[in-house]
Order: sequence, then C-alpha cells, then structure tokens
Amino acid sequence: MFPMVRARMVRAAAMALLAASLVAGLQACSGGADSDEARLVVYSSRAEHLIKPLFDAYTERSGVRIDFITGEEQPLIQRLLAEGESTTADLLITVDAGNLWNASSEGVLRPVSSAALESSIPAHLRDPQGRWFGLSVRARTLVYAPARTGPEELSTYEALAEPQWQGRLCLRTSRKVYNQSLVAMLIAEHGEARTEEIVRGWVDNLAVDVFPNDTQVIEAVAAGQCDVGIVNTYYFGRLKAQRPGIAAALFWPNQQSTGVHVNVSGAGVTRHSPRPEAAVAFLEWLAQPEAQAMFAGLNYEYPAATGVALDPLVADWGEFRQNLINVSQAGELQADAVRLMTRAGYR
Ligand code: FE
Repeated sequence: MFPMVRARMVRAAAMALLAASLVAGLQACSGGADSDEARLVVYSSRAEHLIKPLFDAYTERSGVRIDFITGEEQPLIQRLLAEGESTTADLLITVDAGNLWNASSEGVLRPVSSAALESSIPAHLRDPQGRWFGLSVRARTLVYAPARTGPEELSTYEALAEPQWQGRLCLRTSRKVYNQSLVAMLIAEHGEARTEEIVRGWVDNLAVDVFPNDTQVIEAVAAGQCDVGIVNTYYFGRLKAQRPGIAAALFWPNQQSTGVHVNVSGAGVTRHSPRPEAAVAFLEWLAQPEAQAMFAGLNYEYPAATGVALDPLVADWGEFRQNLINVSQAGELQADAVRLMTRAGYR
C-alpha cells in the first residue's frame, strides 16, 4: 500500500473514533438522545473569540444554547462525513468560499430556502443552491508603502504583473486558499492563458520570496522590503489597531473595471442536522443588522448584508466597488487555479 493512502486510512479511522467520542460527549452534555430543541451544535473553523460573543448574544435573546467545537475546516468536513446521519452538528461555519464550496460538494450541507436570507445576503455572496450563505465579506486588496508609491501609480491586480513593479511586489504563498480563490476569480474573468501571464508577471516582480501569511506581507511593505502587496483587509485592521502609525496603506484596485476581489466567511446547515428549523432561524438571525455588525466588527471585516454600520477603523478605508462575480466560482475553479500557479512558478 502507498504510504499516502495508508496514512489517509489511519487518519480516517482516527477521525471516525474522534467523531464517535465527540457524539458521545455532546450527548452526555444534553443528557441522552440529541432531540433537545433548546440548543444548537456548531462546528466552526472560525476562531472561538470571533464567534462566541455571537452565540452568547443569540442565547440571551432566544434561550437557545449553542454548543460548538472549533478546528481546521478539512477535518471538520471529514468529521461530518464520518458521522453521517448520527451527527449532532446543525451548522458548519467556515471561512473562504473555496472551503464552503468544498463542504457543499462533499455533500455535508443541505439546501436552505429562506426569504429572509435571500433578501439580506446579496446573491454573489451565497451558494446559488442555498447550501451556504456568506455572513461577512473579506476584501483582498492592495497594501502599499505611501513613501514609495500611491494611488497615482496603483491601478489593478493585473497591472502588478507589469515591468514597472519589477522587484517591488510582496506576495503570500500560493498554498493559502485566499490566493487560490483570487486566481480562480481571475480565471473566471480572463480565462487561463491571460491569467497565467498575469501570475507569471507577479512572480517575476517579487522583491523577496513569498511569505507564509498576510501579516508578514504588510510588515514587509512597512519595513521597505517591497512597495506593494496583496492582502485581506482585516489583517491590516489588526496591525493598524496596534500600531496606528504603521507605514502602510490600503488601495482599492480595479475600480474602473471588475471591482475588488471579495470572499466570505459563512455558514450552512448540515445535511443531517437534528434541528434544521432552529438552525435556519439562527442563520437568519446572523444575517440581520445587529448580528451582522458584530460578526464583521469582531474581525475588522465587512458585513455581508448591506446598510449595516461599519467598525470606525474599517469605515476609515473608504468605500469601494466589489467584484460581483459569485464567490462560488472560487471553489469551482480552485483546482485549475492551483495547477496554473504551479505552472507559473508561484510557490
Ligand atoms: Fe485569514
């Protein structure tokens, strides 16, 4: 047997065991079969400090208790697959449309039809089949060093492939799903051949090797290692909150063309949810203004619903036009994007 396959089987077995003990544990909490209508169970790859305040607020208003576990998205999806019909989980919360798309294509989410969700969450931020809904928007935009460049020189993601940026660009690794989703969206807009030219241009223009995370890209820009980078705005928000004087600023690209690349964090109701109606009611609550302001504000993100107040630090970055392509494209074209980035030498 190939070591990879074996390792996967061992992992799957371990996962099933874990899942079984989890089910037992959660049932022990609720004192028997999981028919308790006054609670919900959430699996979340969004960190506890970003979701717990929302769960507490919902419990306070509705009396519904929320039990949850947090973990990496892939193991959580595997866990739902292993548990099947015996799962106690009602909802999956995760980041990035690529991950939500994976969860729905693995069949662990169920289609939901809700007039409230459809009217509050714009169409490009949710699954056309209703298996997941974006709850916050994460904009992947340009960060630049005001001492060395600015709005007079910056324009689009595509333009960062031009020779004028030779030795001036910083990027995060292509292994991160955020960049896979960005490149997937470029494929949706330009096709593979043109997108490969763009990505090759980026690689040629790198000032230094790729970074493991967005924070390091911003730090490199601020430290003068490069003039421009591509990052999610909330990482900038976190740094800016700690160091208001940081020598970096945000720029909204593609405002005359396609708009800023946005992604979501979002949620879906699990296929075998024991309490699907209560799960939908919670999703609907998450999509209304009070919860939206909290969901986005806790992480310096943007609300998915329109007309919701922004965190003041986020509001400071000004308004921008979003790319209105459905974020599910990020999942559909993710495998193509990964292959393209490998061909283009983007590590
Ligand atoms: Fe992130």
